[in-house]
Amino acid sequence: MESNEKTLTVVALGGNAILKPGQEGTAEEQIENVNETTKQLAEMVLSGEYKIVLSHGNGPQVGNILLQNEIAKDEVPSQPLDVCGAESQGLIGYMFAQSLDNVFNKNGRGDIPVSTVLTQTLVEADDPAFEDPSKPVGPFYSKEKAERLEEEKNYDMIEDAGRGYRRVVPSPKPKEIIEKEPIVQLVSAGTVVIASGGGGIPVVKEDNALVGREAVIDKDLATEQLAEDVGAEVLVILTDVEFAYLNYNQPDEEALGGVTVDEAEAYLEEGHFARGSMKPKIEAGTEFVRQGGEKAVITSLEKALEALDGNTGTIITSE
Ligand code: ADP
Ligand code: MG
Repeated sequence: MESNEKTLTVVALGGNAILKPGQEGTAEEQIENVNETTKQLAEMVLSGEYKIVLSHGNGPQVGNILLQNEIAKDEVPSQPLDVCGAESQGLIGYMFAQSLDNVFNKNGRGDIPVSTVLTQTLVEADDPAFEDPSKPVGPFYSKEKAERLEEEKNYDMIEDAGRGYRRVVPSPKPKEIIEKEPIVQLVSAGTVVIASGGGGIPVVKEDNALVGREAVIDKDLATEQLAEDVGAEVLVILTDVEFAYLNYNQPDEEALGGVTVDEAEAYLEEGHFARGSMKPKIEAGTEFVRQGGEKAVITSLEKALEALDGNTGTIITSE
């Protein structure tokens, strides 16, 4: 199949593709998880049907880097959140690129190039999100510990989807992927690209110059921007649930299969999807389809190929 017949697909990987719940976050654990994840992704690429740009979350990683900075601040100057975000993109991008190279080599397809693009994401300097921190980063804490951190360190803390308490930072809306052109060039040349990790590094324009900001852009919304900016046909958001659900965790819970963008937007309005977890995925999916994307797929990593064939997952289309 000629490369220009392949479906340009942007794939977002959730946190569990890199670190599983309960794991500490050692390099060995992360490499092992990444190796599992890339087996699935490699299958997509090796099928010959898809050109792929990969993005990923960075919550636990950037949280750990922040913690390291804080603990070491009397010895080494601590770095702002945008720099920590760049570090996390580097470490995760390294693992995915190496792992994909290895799996392609193993399958006799060492000719498929792989490259990580360290990505900046443009946001608006006056985005109201800067006044309203909402994006969870770092480890989960008990209620007591959370209250202490709020007092002692002036952190903003929230309760996150019934899983404990986390620090929150501003999460402005992505407006443009700064590196979109090099990403398009690479992918057009047959390269599997890893980009926009952790939502990309938040930057604003000041007097026509880019400047970093202390924030974390939601990776699902940034992936949607990436998909738009590279002209993708399909957006795939892989997470730890096979479907988005209506009445999630209620007795009348219902898995969403194929939905139109109108239906999905109505469910968003009705508040079925939690802020900071499923909501941005549905928002990303609806926005992508509204902007002319063919379909948006939300499913688990294990079901990626099945869902791409239309056999499972939540699939948003225009009609
Ligand atoms: P990721 O790292 O993949 O972005 P998130 O934890 O941010 O993972 O989002 C996935 C989680 O969203 C699920 O594990 C689930 O707990 C939560 N969630 C909230 N609302 C819903 C819903 N309506 N349907 C399915 N999952 C939901
Ligand atoms: Mg998430």
